Amino acid sequence: MFMNLILLGAPGAGKGTQVEFLTKERGLPSISTGNILRAAIKEGTPIGLKAQEYISSGRLVPDEVIIGIVKERLSQKDCENGFILDGVPRTIGQAEALEKAGIEITAAILLDVPDNMIEQRMAGRRTCIGCGATYHVVTKPPKKENVCDECGGELTRRKDDDPETVRTRLKVYHEETEPLVDFYRERGKLFVVDGSRSPEETNAQVLEALEKLK
Ligand code: AMP
Repeated sequence: MFMNLILLGAPGAGKGTQVEFLTKERGLPSISTGNILRAAIKEGTPIGLKAQEYISSGRLVPDEVIIGIVKERLSQKDCENGFILDGVPRTIGQAEALEKAGIEITAAILLDVPDNMIEQRMAGRRTCIGCGATYHVVTKPPKKENVCDECGGELTRRKDDDPETVRTRLKVYHEETEPLVDFYRERGKLFVVDGSRSPEETNAQVLEALEKLK
């Protein structure tokens, strides 16, 4: 079935992990603005240079940069039959820009996780510098320590996952991104999932929500 999905939730709520499940289960491409920006920083592109300061301090990259990236990515052929947005939109301005561009959203799935659990999760999170896949030292360890199961890349702790930056990111989430919950609720598109469970249990709830769309 044709589906344009958004995964909403605080940083560390498990959006990336659920997107990995969903891309396998549904065969939809995923678009993570965080991954696109990190790749741009690594390559030293103009967008990367602009984004670096915002990301390392835990603030949001300006809407116009994000909107440009997303529109460009969604115009590619593999998004014709649906896509999953991970970490975008993150502001009302970004959500309105998607609407203005005529990009229909089928459902926004909120992974609901309390802040104290987010802080614990982020402390153990490790990210592949090669492909961006995420792991957790306790709940989702790689088969071989510090080596990505997917691509063999090195696993590191993202700079913006240090506790102080995580607190800033959570504050930014509550102030700027959480209003999107009401935005999509008002449009009858919101599904709330308890994201504090294991990745598999959370995935089961996500799939249950998607069943309701049929
Ligand atoms: P993420 O990997 O989604 O947690 O994103 C990491 C960082 O990239 C965020 O803390 C922001 O600085 C930036 N970023 C990613 N996506 C967006 C977005 N949609 N709007 C603004 N900033 C973003």
